[in-house]
Formats: sequence, structure tokens, C-alpha cells
Amino acid sequence: LAPRQAHFRSIYKNNRTIDQGIIILFKNPHSFTGEDIVEIQAHGGDVVLNLLLEECISLGARQADAGEFSKRAFLNNKIDLAQAEAISDLISASSESAAISAINSLQGLFSERIHTLLNKTVALRVEIEASIDFPDEDIELIDNTTVKAMFLNIKNDIEQLETSINQGSIIQNGIKAVLLGEPNAGKSSLLNRLTQLESAIVTDIEGTTRDIIKEKILIDDLPVHIFDTAGIRKTDNIIESKGIDKTIDQIKRSDIVLLINDVSKNNTTDINKIISKFESFDASLLEHKKVILINNKSDRLNTIPSDECETSVYISAKNNIGIDILKDKIKKTVNYNTPSLESFENVFSARLRHKVALCEAKDSIYNAEDKLKTSNLIDLVAEDLRLAQNSLNKITGEFSADDLLGEIFSSFCIGK
Ligand code: GDP
Repeated sequence: LAPRQAHFRSIYKNNRTIDQGIIILFKNPHSFTGEDIVEIQAHGGDVVLNLLLEECISLGARQADAGEFSKRAFLNNKIDLAQAEAISDLISASSESAAISAINSLQGLFSERIHTLLNKTVALRVEIEASIDFPDEDIELIDNTTVKAMFLNIKNDIEQLETSINQGSIIQNGIKAVLLGEPNAGKSSLLNRLTQLESAIVTDIEGTTRDIIKEKILIDDLPVHIFDTAGIRKTDNIIESKGIDKTIDQIKRSDIVLLINDVSKNNTTDINKIISKFESFDASLLEHKKVILINNKSDRLNTIPSDECETSVYISAKNNIGIDILKDKIKKTVNYNTPSLESFENVFSARLRHKVALCEAKDSIYNAEDKLKTSNLIDLVAEDLRLAQNSLNKITGEFSADDLLGEIFSSFCIGK
């Protein structure tokens, strides 16, 4: 086969033609993994593909592990680790923004920013270490103005990158929002309104929702996982009380609490007032949570108060009033900005792993700066800078333990 040319061929098993298709040979290093690869494009039926696969296996091939192609591409230096992860993110992207942020990372924009930061850290380390290596020479120990400026520049870069990573992580993974309120406040009606489906049963009988119902919606490409829960009240019913335990658990795991109140019974924008009315509910659960008070059933009020409070909103789930304002408030509460065309190049698909590594690097940079200010132990300053460098290298995979690689690639789809 001539490399990188499409050949139309028949495919045989036991001397019998089983299919016809396109065969392409990619010679190393000009292939995705950097190795020799043959691509067979056959017809899509299960039976034919199985026959084809059986024949390949009988000739000595084996099925790839999950993520094996991407892993080999990484090990052969065709892509770095952040780019490999972006492939998986691209495949699982649930919105256009998520796909764009993943392709940005795949094209290396994210890695480029990490490398710039690494280069700046290395330059600073060189500046600092020069004074360790040549203590007796007649060079000025440390040029304070230069070093100060270098620290400032690195800290600014880290902060900008943190913002991009946070935005990327929200776009990719979305946020979890839990619906919380007394029975019959309208939680299930709101869930149905937001999903535009009959996901949850709506009745005026209290205690209908007992298990958690989970749905996903997109608010301007922001994925929001919504959890409808059992209403909070005192109950002797074992099933309902188990449902309430699950509600509590879900509150802990959510990024934002949508607190629903029947405004026809209690018209207030004071979150604490509503919570204090819940029977047997530990209010401290909401202490560090982002809460939006949703005053539902506003159709029952004579006049709807003006909507100026940032943390509350008047809606009618039944009559579709105030839903867009609620969606806006959800976006604001989690600091989500709908990416504009210009800002898209600064959005990357980011993972918790990246966040943690960047945070480690940030800590080391701050430690180094502190030590330089408060002591003249230059060796320790240099050591902190080395640690920062290691943390940044973890993102692109320059220093990655085998078990980390195993963990990352095993979450890929088979054949990718
Ligand atoms: P949940 O127990 O909190 O999930 O409440 P449901 O969604 O099951 O609703 C309880 C009752 O309130 C049902 O009879 C709904 O039709 C009614 N309801 C829900 N939202 C509204 C609303 O915006 N206005 C009015 N008037 N009734 C509503």
C-alpha cells in the first residue's frame, strides 16, 4: 500500500469476500500514534464488522484498550497529556462551547500557556540560582527590581490561567443544582418547566417525590444538572424520611441550592426566614452554599414585587413567569459568562487535576516570594521554584507516574 493513499479493496476471510472498503496505510511517524497504522473503513453492520474483527484477531491483532491510541500518541510525544485529555473531552462534549474549549486544548493552546508559565518560572530560577552558584564572584547577588517584576508577572499569568480553567471546567462539567423546599412548593413543576418535559410527577398531594430525580439542561451552553428532591418536613413515613436523608446528602454535593418557596403562603426575600420554617432541618448545611430563593406561585399574588434582589426571584412554574430571570441568576451565581467569539480562545477544557496542579504551583511561587522577602535562604527559594516547575510539568505530563496515566486513559472510550 502506498502510504496515506486511499485504496479501494475487497476484504477476505477464508478466501471468501466478506466486505469491500477503503484501506489507508499511515507510516510512522506520520500517524496519530506515531507508529505504523492501517485504517480499514468498512460497512457499518455489526455482523460484517465482527467478521472483520475476528479475521484481524486471528491474524495476530488484538482489540485496543480504552484510550490506548491516545496513550500511545502521548508516549510517542505526538501530543502531551493535556491534549490527550482534550480528545476525551471533545468526544464527551455536551455543548458547542464545551466542544470549542476541548478543541482549543487539543490544538495545544492550553499547553502553550503552561509552557509560557514554565519558561518564566525557569528564567526566575536561573536568576535566583546564579547567586547560589557564584557566591564568591563579584556579581550583584540578586537584582531585586528584576526579580520582583518576574514574580509579579508569573502571579498574574497564574491568575489569568485560573480564571480560564474555572470557566473551562464549568463549561465541560457543568454545575449541580439541587431543588429544596417544603412539599408542594412547586419543585417538580419547576423541574418540568426547566426541562420542558414531564420528568417529575406533579400533584397537590404532599410527599410525592421521594427518590431523587436528575435531569440536565443547558442554560446558554452552561450544563446544569438539576436534582429534584423529597420536600423537607417532619414525617413518620420511613420511605419519605429516607428521601429526605437523600435530599440532605444531595445538598452537600451540589454547587448551588435552588430554594423554592410557596409565595402565596409566605412572601419574603429573606432566605433565613424560609429555612427557619422547615421542620427538623439543619440550617448550617446552607451556610457556605450559594442559594437562590425562588418565590414560586407568583401568579397568586396581586402584584409581583420588583426583582432587584440578587439572591431571590419571583416566578410561576405553572404559568411560565420569571423563568428567564431565574436562568440569568443561576449563571451569575456561579460566575458563568456566556463565552463571546473573542473570548473563546481563552477557554480550555480543564479538569480537576489541572486545577490542583496549578494551585500547587501557585502556592510554591508565593512561598518562594515570601522566603525571599523574609530570609536570605536563597537555596530554599530556588527549591520552591523547582517545585512550582514540577507542578506545572504534571499538567502536560512531563512528570507523570504510570498509575496516573492508567487512571486518565482508562476513562476514555474504547478505540480512541
Ligand atoms: P413539589 O411537591 O414541591 O414538587 O410541588 P409540585 O410541583 O408537585 O406542585 C404542587 C402543587 O402546586 C401542584 O398542584 C402544582 O400544580 C401547584 N403549582 C406548582 N407551581 C405553581 C405555580 O407557579 N402556580 C400555581 N398557582 N400553582 C403551582
